[in-house]
Amino acid sequence: MYLTRLIYYSRCDASEGIDVESILQSAREHNARNQITGALWFDGTYFIQVLEGGRKAISDTYHRIARDPRHFDIELVSCELIDRRVFNDWKMAYVSDTQPNRDLIRKYSGTDQLKPREMSAASLLNVILEGQLVGG
Ligand code: FAD
Repeated sequence: MYLTRLIYYSRCDASEGIDVESILQSAREHNARNQITGALWFDGTYFIQVLEGGRKAISDTYHRIARDPRHFDIELVSCELIDRRVFNDWKMAYVSDTQPNRDLIRKYSGTDQLKPREMSAASLLNVILEGQLVGG
């Protein structure tokens, strides 16, 4: 099994009232079965997600997620082979829209406003890694 890390971001329609808890619940159930770990950032507009696991499981899961009508404008930022997981204990950690998490945007980008299109894979990963992770 080739251990793989994939990072993507996407947008949602904030007026549609996204039920992020239901997304996390479904993600954690599927990920436990597929030995996938990772974390999801959601600030009300953007999702940033890191998925780690076997290459085939990551590929299948990413394609399923990309078809999900709850988000759009999905951009694959990186997909690389890795030698260890950084979210080993998390089926899908959640990084929510708190002030400490927002402060990380300034640290890892040129502005206070999250613009994932203008951020590198390493910066996006660091924003999530240093964020306050909650959940399972
Ligand atoms: P089903 O549950 O059978 O659903 C069928 C279709 O309806 C799919 O297209 C599904 O995406 C869509 N759907 C499901 N629930 C809703 C709803 N409440 N409103 C509108 N459409 C809906 N899945 C993972 O396995 N791992 C993850 O880490 C993961 N992360 C996600 C992150 C985001 C930002 C989003 C939006 C979804 C994520 N999902 C994740 C969920 C994933 O998109 C699938 O819904 C889930 O994997 C179940 O797939 P399924 O084929 O069994 O679809």
